Amino acid sequence: MAYFTKPQAILCDRDGTLIEDSHFLSHPDQIEWITGVLEALKFLKTQDISVLVVTNQSGVARGYFPVEAVEAVNDQMRRDAETASGAIADFYYCPHHPKGQVIQYSYVCDCRKPSPGLFIQAIAHHSLDPTRCWAIGDRLRDLEPGLQLGMKAFLVKTGYGIQEQQDLSKSPFSEQITVVSSMPEIINLISNESNSQQSKMLNVTH
Ligand SMILES: [Zn+2]
Repeated sequence: MAYFTKPQAILCDRDGTLIEDSHFLSHPDQIEWITGVLEALKFLKTQDISVLVVTNQSGVARGYFPVEAVEAVNDQMRRDAETASGAIADFYYCPHHPKGQVIQYSYVCDCRKPSPGLFIQAIAHHSLDPTRCWAIGDRLRDLEPGLQLGMKAFLVKTGYGIQEQQDLSKSPFSEQITVVSSMPEIINLISNESNSQQSKMLNVTH
Protein backbone atom coordinates (compact mmCIF):
# COMPACT_ATOMS: atom_id res chain seq x y z
CA MET A 1 0.00 0.00 0.00
CA ALA A 2 1.21 3.50 -0.80
CA TYR A 3 1.58 5.89 2.11
CA PHE A 4 1.45 9.66 1.93
CA THR A 5 2.93 12.40 4.08
CA LYS A 6 0.46 13.77 6.59
CA PRO A 7 -1.56 16.59 4.98
CA GLN A 8 -2.08 20.04 6.42
CA ALA A 9 -5.75 20.04 5.44
CA ILE A 10 -8.31 17.92 3.65
CA LEU A 11 -10.76 19.55 1.24
CA CYS A 12 -13.63 17.15 1.32
CA ASP A 13 -16.79 16.84 -0.72
CA ARG A 14 -20.02 16.61 1.32
CA ASP A 15 -22.80 14.49 -0.26
CA GLY A 16 -21.66 10.95 -1.08
CA THR A 17 -18.35 11.42 0.73
CA LEU A 18 -19.07 12.50 4.32
CA ILE A 19 -22.80 11.84 4.37
CA GLU A 20 -25.02 9.63 2.22
CA ASP A 21 -26.05 11.27 -1.03
CA SER A 22 -29.78 11.62 -0.61
CA HIS A 23 -31.01 13.37 -3.79
CA PHE A 24 -30.78 17.16 -3.23
CA LEU A 25 -30.65 16.73 0.54
CA SER A 26 -31.95 19.92 2.13
CA HIS A 27 -32.85 19.29 5.79
CA PRO A 28 -30.72 18.39 8.81
CA ASP A 29 -33.03 15.42 9.51
CA GLN A 30 -31.82 13.82 6.26
CA ILE A 31 -28.18 13.71 7.36
CA GLU A 32 -26.87 10.17 7.44
CA TRP A 33 -23.15 9.99 8.15
CA ILE A 34 -21.24 7.42 6.11
CA THR A 35 -19.88 4.63 8.31
CA GLY A 36 -16.64 5.54 10.06
CA VAL A 37 -16.57 9.19 8.97
CA LEU A 38 -17.24 10.71 12.40
CA GLU A 39 -14.52 8.53 13.95
CA ALA A 40 -12.17 9.61 11.14
CA LEU A 41 -12.94 13.28 11.86
CA LYS A 42 -12.03 12.66 15.50
CA PHE A 43 -8.74 11.08 14.49
CA LEU A 44 -7.90 13.90 12.05
CA LYS A 45 -8.46 16.42 14.82
CA THR A 46 -5.97 14.62 17.06
CA GLN A 47 -3.47 14.93 14.19
CA ASP A 48 -4.16 18.68 13.69
CA ILE A 49 -5.34 18.02 10.15
CA SER A 50 -8.06 20.53 9.22
CA VAL A 51 -11.13 19.31 7.37
CA LEU A 52 -12.85 21.79 5.06
CA VAL A 53 -16.03 20.85 3.25
CA VAL A 54 -16.36 21.99 -0.37
CA THR A 55 -19.72 21.28 -1.98
CA ASN A 56 -21.81 22.04 -5.06
CA GLN A 57 -25.37 22.90 -3.97
CA SER A 58 -27.10 23.65 -7.25
CA GLY A 59 -30.44 22.87 -5.60
CA VAL A 60 -30.40 26.55 -4.62
CA ALA A 61 -30.22 27.77 -8.23
CA ARG A 62 -32.72 25.10 -9.27
CA GLY A 63 -35.21 26.50 -6.74
CA TYR A 64 -35.37 23.29 -4.70
CA PHE A 65 -34.25 24.94 -1.44
CA PRO A 66 -32.88 28.28 -0.18
CA VAL A 67 -29.31 28.96 0.98
CA GLU A 68 -30.60 28.85 4.57
CA ALA A 69 -31.33 25.14 4.08
CA VAL A 70 -27.73 24.49 2.97
CA GLU A 71 -26.49 26.39 6.00
CA ALA A 72 -28.80 24.50 8.37
CA VAL A 73 -27.44 21.17 7.09
CA ASN A 74 -23.86 22.41 7.34
CA ASP A 75 -24.43 23.72 10.89
CA GLN A 76 -25.85 20.38 11.98
CA MET A 77 -22.89 18.55 10.43
CA ARG A 78 -20.50 20.84 12.28
CA ARG A 79 -22.29 20.09 15.56
CA ASP A 80 -22.34 16.33 14.87
CA ALA A 81 -18.60 16.42 14.22
CA GLU A 82 -17.99 18.30 17.47
CA THR A 83 -20.18 15.90 19.43
CA ALA A 84 -18.00 13.10 18.06
CA SER A 85 -14.85 15.00 19.23
CA GLY A 86 -14.00 15.89 15.64
CA ALA A 87 -14.16 19.19 13.80
CA ILE A 88 -15.07 20.69 10.46
CA ALA A 89 -13.05 23.87 10.13
CA ASP A 90 -15.18 25.46 7.43
CA PHE A 91 -17.79 24.96 4.72
CA TYR A 92 -17.65 26.33 1.19
CA TYR A 93 -20.60 25.83 -1.13
CA CYS A 94 -21.60 26.86 -4.63
CA PRO A 95 -25.33 27.68 -4.90
CA HIS A 96 -25.13 28.32 -8.65
CA HIS A 97 -26.08 26.47 -11.80
CA PRO A 98 -25.88 27.76 -15.39
CA LYS A 99 -29.41 26.50 -16.11
CA GLY A 100 -31.13 27.19 -12.80
CA GLN A 101 -34.58 28.64 -12.12
CA VAL A 102 -33.63 31.28 -9.55
CA ILE A 103 -32.21 34.15 -11.60
CA GLN A 104 -29.94 35.41 -8.84
CA TYR A 105 -28.00 32.11 -8.83
CA SER A 106 -28.34 31.03 -12.45
CA TYR A 107 -25.16 31.85 -14.30
CA VAL A 108 -21.80 30.35 -15.16
CA CYS A 109 -19.83 30.94 -11.97
CA ASP A 110 -16.21 30.23 -11.13
CA CYS A 111 -16.99 28.21 -8.01
CA ARG A 112 -19.08 25.24 -9.18
CA LYS A 113 -16.72 22.26 -9.12
CA PRO A 114 -14.76 21.38 -11.27
CA SER A 115 -14.08 25.14 -11.37
CA PRO A 116 -11.51 25.96 -8.71
CA GLY A 117 -13.16 29.03 -7.08
CA LEU A 118 -14.12 27.42 -3.77
CA PHE A 119 -10.75 25.72 -3.44
CA ILE A 120 -8.98 29.02 -4.06
CA GLN A 121 -11.14 30.72 -1.41
CA ALA A 122 -10.46 27.96 1.12
CA ILE A 123 -6.71 28.12 0.51
CA ALA A 124 -6.69 31.90 0.94
CA HIS A 125 -8.92 32.00 4.05
CA HIS A 126 -6.96 29.28 5.84
CA SER A 127 -3.48 30.17 4.51
CA LEU A 128 -3.02 26.67 3.13
CA ASP A 129 -0.21 25.30 1.02
CA PRO A 130 -2.11 23.36 -1.68
CA THR A 131 0.79 20.95 -2.16
CA ARG A 132 0.22 19.88 1.46
CA CYS A 133 -3.55 19.40 1.01
CA TRP A 134 -5.68 16.47 -0.06
CA ALA A 135 -8.88 16.61 -2.10
CA ILE A 136 -11.44 13.87 -1.46
CA GLY A 137 -14.73 13.18 -3.20
CA ASP A 138 -16.97 10.70 -4.98
CA ARG A 139 -16.79 12.48 -8.34
CA LEU A 140 -13.84 13.43 -10.51
CA ARG A 141 -15.09 17.01 -10.48
CA ASP A 142 -14.47 17.08 -6.71
CA LEU A 143 -10.82 16.20 -7.31
CA GLU A 144 -9.88 18.07 -10.48
CA PRO A 145 -9.70 21.57 -8.92
CA GLY A 146 -7.44 20.21 -6.19
CA LEU A 147 -5.21 18.40 -8.66
CA GLN A 148 -4.89 21.55 -10.76
CA LEU A 149 -3.64 23.33 -7.63
CA GLY A 150 -1.14 20.60 -6.75
CA MET A 151 -3.07 18.61 -4.15
CA LYS A 152 -3.16 14.83 -3.71
CA ALA A 153 -6.53 13.36 -4.67
CA PHE A 154 -8.62 10.44 -3.44
CA LEU A 155 -11.76 9.07 -5.06
CA VAL A 156 -14.11 7.32 -2.64
CA LYS A 157 -16.36 4.47 -3.75
CA THR A 158 -19.32 5.73 -1.71
CA GLY A 159 -21.94 8.01 -3.34
CA TYR A 160 -21.30 8.11 -7.12
CA GLY A 161 -17.77 6.80 -6.70
CA ILE A 162 -18.28 3.38 -8.30
CA GLN A 163 -19.77 4.99 -11.42
CA GLU A 164 -17.08 7.64 -11.50
CA GLN A 165 -14.37 5.03 -11.29
CA GLN A 166 -15.48 3.77 -14.71
CA ASP A 167 -14.56 7.15 -16.21
CA LEU A 168 -11.31 7.42 -14.33
CA SER A 169 -9.19 6.20 -17.25
CA LYS A 170 -10.53 9.09 -19.36
CA SER A 171 -9.37 11.70 -16.86
CA PRO A 172 -6.07 13.43 -17.63
CA PHE A 173 -5.37 13.06 -13.91
CA SER A 174 -6.13 9.32 -13.66
CA GLU A 175 -2.55 8.43 -12.69
CA GLN A 176 -2.65 10.93 -9.84
CA ILE A 177 -5.88 9.71 -8.25
CA THR A 178 -5.92 7.09 -5.50
CA VAL A 179 -9.16 5.11 -5.18
CA VAL A 180 -10.27 4.26 -1.62
CA SER A 181 -13.33 2.40 -0.37
CA SER A 182 -14.60 5.32 1.69
CA MET A 183 -13.42 8.52 3.35
CA PRO A 184 -12.26 6.88 6.62
CA GLU A 185 -9.79 4.72 4.68
CA ILE A 186 -7.64 7.74 3.85
CA ILE A 187 -6.38 7.98 7.39
CA ASN A 188 -4.75 4.59 7.00
CA LEU A 189 -2.75 5.98 4.08
CA ILE A 190 -1.10 8.67 6.21
CA SER A 191 2.44 7.60 6.90
CA ASN A 192 3.09 8.14 10.58
CA GLU A 193 3.77 6.15 13.67
CA SER A 194 0.13 6.09 14.74
CA ASN A 195 -1.11 4.10 11.73
CA SER A 196 -1.46 0.88 13.67
CA GLN A 197 -3.25 2.70 16.46
CA GLN A 198 -5.81 4.33 14.19
CA SER A 199 -6.48 1.08 12.35
CA LYS A 200 -7.32 -0.56 15.64
CA MET A 201 -9.42 2.37 16.70
CA LEU A 202 -11.47 2.35 13.53
CA ASN A 203 -11.32 -1.34 12.77
CA VAL A 204 -11.11 -0.39 9.08
CA THR A 205 -11.05 -3.31 6.70
CA HIS A 206 -9.42 -3.28 3.28
ZN1 LIG B 1 -20.78 28.91 -8.00
